[in-house]
Order: sequence, then C-alpha cells, then structure tokens
Amino acid sequence: MFRSIRVRLTLWYVVLLAAILAVFSGGVFLGLRENLNTNLNDSLDNRADIVRSLVSYEDGRPSLGGADIPGDPLEGEHFARVFDSSGDVTFDNSSPAGAVPLDQDALTTALSGAATRASTETSREQLRILTTPIRQDSAVVGAIQVGLSEGDFRETLNTLTLMIAIAYPITLLVASAGGVFLAGRALSPIDRLTRVARQITGEDLSQRLDLDLPDDEVGRLARTFDEMIARLDDAFKRQRRFTADASHELRTPLTAIKGQAEVALQRDREPDAYKQVLQAINHEVDRLIRLVASLLTLARADAGQIPIAREAVDLGRVVTDAVEQVRPAASARTIRLDVQPGPDVRLVADDDLLLQLVLNLLDNAVKFTPAGGSVNVSWGREDRQALVCVSDTGPGISPEHLPHIFERFYRVDGARTRAGGGAGLGLSIGRWIAEAHGGSISAESMPGEGATFTVRLALSD
Ligand code: ADP
Repeated sequence: MFRSIRVRLTLWYVVLLAAILAVFSGGVFLGLRENLNTNLNDSLDNRADIVRSLVSYEDGRPSLGGADIPGDPLEGEHFARVFDSSGDVTFDNSSPAGAVPLDQDALTTALSGAATRASTETSREQLRILTTPIRQDSAVVGAIQVGLSEGDFRETLNTLTLMIAIAYPITLLVASAGGVFLAGRALSPIDRLTRVARQITGEDLSQRLDLDLPDDEVGRLARTFDEMIARLDDAFKRQRRFTADASHELRTPLTAIKGQAEVALQRDREPDAYKQVLQAINHEVDRLIRLVASLLTLARADAGQIPIAREAVDLGRVVTDAVEQVRPAASARTIRLDVQPGPDVRLVADDDLLLQLVLNLLDNAVKFTPAGGSVNVSWGREDRQALVCVSDTGPGISPEHLPHIFERFYRVDGARTRAGGGAGLGLSIGRWIAEAHGGSISAESMPGEGATFTVRLALSD
C-alpha cells in the first residue's frame, strides 16, 4: 500500500494538515483564553471601582450603607464585600451572606496595601475574586472584595474545546478522503501511461501514448515518452534497414563469385580461362573486402569504438597527400587534378581519418567525372573553421537526390556506381569523420554542372 504515490501523498498531506490544525486550534484556544481572562479581570476592576465610589464612612469605617449595587447578587454570579481596617465585614451581599469563603490571606494583603486576584469554588459557582485596599489620603482604611462568576469564561472555553474535538477528526477525515480523491485524479494519467507503455514492445514501436493531456508535468512526461519512442522507432528502423542493405550488398558480390566459379567448374577449361575467372573472383573479393571494411568502420563508429587521435595536423599536407594518392587514377582517365594551395591551416585532428575523408571525396570526384574533365581541390579558413573544397565537372547530383547522398547505402544510380565499386557508404563515413571533428560536410550541385563538396572542421584556436 505504501508503494502507491497516492497513499503516500495523502498520508503526508494528512499528517501536515493535522499538525497545522493542531497549531491553529491551540493558538485559537490560548488566544481566546487570554482574551476572556483579560475581559474578566477588567470587569472585576470596574466592579471594584463602582463599589469604591459607593463607599461611605461611619466613624471612619468604610461601608456601603444603603447604597445599591447594580446586578442581582441572588444569581450568585457576583458579590461584593467591604471590610474595615481591622478586617471586619461591614457589607456583604453574597447570597446567603458569607456564602463565599473568606480568604484571610488575600484580606491581610489588601489591608497592607496590595490587591490580589484568586479563583474560588463555591457551592454554586466558580468565582474570580479581587481583593483590593480602600485608601483615604493614601492610608489604607479598609478593603473591598468583589467576585464575578467564571461560568461564561469556562463555558466559552469548554464549547471551543468541544468544537475543536469534533471538528478536528472530521476535518482530517474529509481532507484524507479529498486527498485520496485529488491525488488519484492527478495521478490517473500516470496509470494510463503505464498501461499503454506496457503494450509498447521492442517488436512494435509504432504505438504511441497519444494521450490528450494538458501541458502539465504528466502531459509533458507523456509527450517526452512519445518522442523517445519515436526516436527509438527511428533508430530500430535504421538498424533494420542497415542490416538488410548490408546483407544485400554482401550477397551481390558473393552471388557473382559463386556464378563465376560454377560456370568455370562445369567443364574442363584452358588455364587462361581459369585465370580469367580467378581474376574476376579476385576483383569481387576486393569489393567485398572494401565493403566489409566500410561496414566495420560504420558499426564501430556507431558504437563509439573508433579512437580519434588529437594531434596537430597540417591541413594542406593532408590534402596534397590525398591528391597524390588519386593522381594515378585521375591521369589514367585523363582527368585534370587542380590543387589551389591555401593558407597554412593547422588543426587538432586525427591525421588518418582526415586523409580518408579527403580521399573519399577525391575518389568520388574522379570516379564520377567523365574522361577529359577536371577536379579542383582547395583549402582555407573561414569563420574560425578550416575548409576543404572538392569540386568536379562531372554530371552533378539532381536536387531530389542531393539531400540523401550522405545516407548509408544511398546511390543515385545503383547499377552505374556499383560497377565502380561503390556501395554508397563513402559519404556517410565522410560525414561521420567531419562530425567527429566538430565539423560538417555539405554538397552543392546543379545537374550537368558538376558537384562541390565542402568540409568544415572546427579550429581549436
Ligand atoms: P559510393 O561509394 O557509391 O560512391 P558515396 O557515399 O561516396 O557512395 O556516394 C553516394 C552517392 O552520391 C554516389 O553513389 C553518387 O551517386 C553520389 N555522388 C557522390 N559524389 C559525387 C560526385 N562527385 N558527383 C556526382 N555524384 C556523386
């Protein structure tokens, strides 16, 4: 039961409310008691003043004579007494007279000049009694004792205590029920979320919560969950496509090898014929090796397993090295390779990976440019970035293909480029290398007007 947030939330809420209510009730009780107490004492003082104003003197002894005190003492709710300086009673209207026990100590204190207050229980009432001196020319000539019932005072406090005793548990009970209800209402979308989330499995990531929730914490959680599933779905789909594409790419050269071997084995042949078949097989195996190497690179890149060296690299040297490596292939196809030397650009990067990136771009440029065309290479810096540009005079890439050429296995013209040995992985590896160096790669092209690839790399200084 305590594993439910609803129960725990309600419990916390009720405990907190109980504490707040206790402090509040205690405060109200103490405040009211203090207030009533002050009122009662004020009333006693007033009564003492009234009695004092009515005092007359016979032979120097204070007395009330025939004076009338307001209120009916028969109710037993109040009384007044007057004493002379020797402590003898000269007036007493407690009913019956003398019903209120005489507090000798209080009287002695009053006759010596100080007032006292006390609470006394009579047969009928709980009385608050004030005993105060009567002075004449600053000499104490007697004492007045007035008493008022504490009945109202106590009754009010008792009523309040009773009200608190009844209201306190009822309030807590209602608050607990309300708390359970409200917590349930607030958390019910989470239950829904859990139910739907359970139905989403690795095999079927097409499901979404799609809960129609307001833009609050739970709503945001549900939407974030949906976005996460969408990303997972995307990643799973890409993974499946990658596996399917990779298998397909691997099958093609393997089928070719198998076909060549079977045909060769059908009957005895001249050594030259075997040699031809073996050359063809060798060619396919080369393709397979390149393909598997690319696949391995991408798989390890995905897993973050390719260590990227951070060494000082001279960009111009990397570009010229790459150019020298493709020069034989270019001249074999009578393609001109123009290098425009740029400024001295040094960056912290992985030498081998950068070389592979530039080589990929140059390979493509040479591969796709028809004989007699030209490939232009340049480097430089722009906005705190290092730049490498490779442009060619080949067929270019049409706008509908341009956004996809960096995708894995994407080839504009499958048959034509496969013959050239490409599996559509070169540019995706290139993009990974650029991004691993905090950079990017982009392509611009108009069909028929050649293509320009630009690599931007972060400069550390
Ligand atoms: P591949 O290994 O097949 O060349 P890439 O990933 O390097 O794969 O390139 C993807 C596709 O982009 C190529 O199949 C090709 O259609 C297109 N492409 C790349 N470079 C050029 C270029 N310089 N000129 C025209 N098309 C290009």
